[in-house]
Amino acid sequence: MDGILLQTVEGLGDAPLVRTGCEIWEWLQGEKEEVAHELLSDGPLCQTAVSGVQEAEAPEENSREIEWRHRGHLEARLREINDAQDRLMDGAYGRCTDCGAEIDSLRLAADPAASLCIACRRSIEAEAVFCTL
Ligand SMILES: [Zn+2]
Repeated sequence: MDGILLQTVEGLGDAPLVRTGCEIWEWLQGEKEEVAHELLSDGPLCQTAVSGVQEAEAPEENSREIEWRHRGHLEARLREINDAQDRLMDGAYGRCTDCGAEIDSLRLAADPAASLCIACRRSIEAEAVFCTL
């Protein structure tokens, strides 16, 4: 068991990760690979969209827009996971990046990449609703 953990940590240099941090790291890493895989599988479509910008009035514009939005979500998720890994390295993991409060452990269990406490998350979501109204 320890051997496996050591192997995983090797690539990270001398990061002072405790065992729980290691487990979180591995979860984040797995999640990241999944998201990256999904992004890559969208790759060819992305290239088509870039080279076909001039034909933006084509009928498939809507589905492209949806694809782009989906891609944006995936990229945002990837950033979120990367940030969580950074915080894990810094020892800042588990704290709200906005107000610095401790993030609820249940919330972290549901989404280890969570970067905001519930209060901050809610206020951002409330703002987002106002923006779309
Ligand atoms: Zn907060």
